[in-house]
Amino acid sequence: MYTLPDLAYDYSALAPHISPEIMELHHSKHHQAYVTGANTAQEKLAEARSTGNFAALPKLEKDLAFHLGGHLNHSLFWKNMSPDGGGEPTGELAEAIGENFIDFATFKKQFTEVAMSIQGSGWSVLAWDALGSRLSIYQLYDHQGNLPVAQIPLLLLDMWEHAFYLQYRNVKADFVTAWWNLVNWTDVSARYEKAHKHSSAMI
Ligand code: MN
Repeated sequence: MYTLPDLAYDYSALAPHISPEIMELHHSKHHQAYVTGANTAQEKLAEARSTGNFAALPKLEKDLAFHLGGHLNHSLFWKNMSPDGGGEPTGELAEAIGENFIDFATFKKQFTEVAMSIQGSGWSVLAWDALGSRLSIYQLYDHQGNLPVAQIPLLLLDMWEHAFYLQYRNVKADFVTAWWNLVNWTDVSARYEKAHKHSSAMI
């Protein structure tokens, strides 16, 4: 079953950009709740299969998508950040960003605007589109809405209020500005290279 992954850094390691209090709650409470929810949904689906009673299926399908989405998104989000992050990507990822978004500054602006304009809870996502063989940015609602399948996530930014409110209150822009200082481009580049090389066989 699903388990909460350990972080590669301490809860205090991303300060001052993200406070230790936010990190601890976000990882040990919020992310844990999605892990638990995904496991519960899988258990109930197994139960439905064994009893043959699929009456609750629409709710279970929604629960699985929401909680597993939350588990997946957070698992990547932690790895997308590093106390030694920030700056700009280099190499193949930098070239691909240039091809798909004009240049890094324009990419950064679009990604930021996508994050800032989410209505309610959601994520800004840079993904490799395995069908079009290109990079795209998506506004992901809740943990699972508004994103087609076959988009391989490379970089995610959590724009739920639990991600920033204790520290930044309603000033989302300051959170996003601070977050760019944490982006682990080594991790994002490694994801891009794998997705780019292996995804064509998936569609
Ligand atoms: Mn979150």
